[in-house]
Amino acid sequence: MVEIRGVHKSFGSLEVLQGIDLTIEKGSVTVILGPSGSGKSTLLRTINHLEKVDRGHVRVDGELIGYRQDGDRLYELHERHVLKQRAGIGFVFQTFNLFPHLTVLENVTEALLRRPRAEAKQRALDLLDRVGLADKAAAYPRQLSGGQQQRVAIARALALDPKLVLFDEPTSALDPELVGEVLDVMRDLARAGTTMIVVTHEIGFAREAADSIVFLDGGRILEHGPPAQVLDSPVHDRTRAFLSKVL
Ligand code: ATP
Ligand code: MG
Repeated sequence: MVEIRGVHKSFGSLEVLQGIDLTIEKGSVTVILGPSGSGKSTLLRTINHLEKVDRGHVRVDGELIGYRQDGDRLYELHERHVLKQRAGIGFVFQTFNLFPHLTVLENVTEALLRRPRAEAKQRALDLLDRVGLADKAAAYPRQLSGGQQQRVAIARALALDPKLVLFDEPTSALDPELVGEVLDVMRDLARAGTTMIVVTHEIGFAREAADSIVFLDGGRILEHGPPAQVLDSPVHDRTRAFLSKVL
C-alpha cells in the first residue's frame, strides 16, 4: 500500500533522511519512534509530498506521489494533482489545526465541499459520532478541550475516506488526562482496518496497536519489526538508550 524507496532529504547541508526504505501493508498500523530531530516528521511529510524528496520515491497504492514517470524520467506533478493525491491521505497534526472561526461540524464538512450539502452534513455527523462528539457539532473549537479538538481533527482527516492516515505526535500537545480519549479513537480506527502511520512516544499504544514499529535515528531506520521485537529485544544500543528514556 505504501512503498518508500531510497528516500533522501536534506535541508541545506543537513541530511535529514539518509535513504529510507519502508513498505507498509494495507490495514496495518506502523508506529515511528525516534529522538527529536531524527527525521520523523520529515518522513511523514514526504509521504504526502508536503516535503519533496531529493532522491528516491514514495508510492501509495502503486501511484507515485508528487511525480509522473515517463520512461525513466520523473516529472513533478501539477499542484492540483498533488492536492488530489493529498486528499486521499489524512494527516493529523500535533496542534489540531482546526479553523477557529468554523464550528466543529463546519471543520469536518470543509473537506467535503464538493459533495451535496445534505450528504456532506450527514457524513460529518457520522464521523463526529464515531469520535464521540456528535453533541458538539455546533460548538467552536475554543469551546472544546484539547482532546476533543484532536478528535475533531481526526474526524476531519477521515472525511474523504482516505487510503491512509498519518499522525504526527497526535497526543503530545495534550494534558496527560486527555491523551487516553484520543488514543482510544485511534485504537478504534486501527481495529476497523485503517492504514495508519503514527509518530508517537506513547509506547503503550505502540505495543498494543502497532503491527510494526520503526525506530528512526539520524535519518536512518535502525530497527523495524513487530512491537515485541523492537521494544523488548532491540538490536542497537541506540534503540535501547532511547527506550529507557521513554518507557
Ligand atoms: P521532533 O521529535 O522534535 O518532532 P523529528 O524527528 O520530527 O523531531 P524533523 O522535524 O523531521 O524531526 O526534523 C529533522 C531535522 O530537520 C531537524 O534537525 C530539523 O531542524 C530539520 N528541519 C526540519 N524541517 C526543516 C526545514 N523546513 N528547514 C530546515 N530544517 C528543517
Ligand atoms: Mg516531529
